[in-house]
Amino acid sequence: MEIKQLCPHCQEECISTLQKLFISSASSRQCKSCGKEVTISRRYTIFVIAVLLLMFVVSQVMKPDLMYILTFGSIAVVVFSVIQIYLIPLSKK
Ligand SMILES: [Zn+2]
Repeated sequence: MEIKQLCPHCQEECISTLQKLFISSASSRQCKSCGKEVTISRRYTIFVIAVLLLMFVVSQVMKPDLMYILTFGSIAVVVFSVIQIYLIPLSKK
């Protein structure tokens, strides 16, 4: 399902879904309609870092085997990608 990534400045479609997937609060993209910079919320990036840290701590405590790490690692990547593409709005830089 392709959804339009609307620019917070001009409300036109500004970047592709793939570009949004690789955007972070530390980087930004230029809107292809108005040329202004768009990025995603810093709070979301902090949330992702917090979850990754939590997963790291849990893996240190539980000492899971490699299959477990690979399985949950891939699920986490998919979940974060879907959240970033569909739920996190673009914001002005
Ligand atoms: Zn724009």
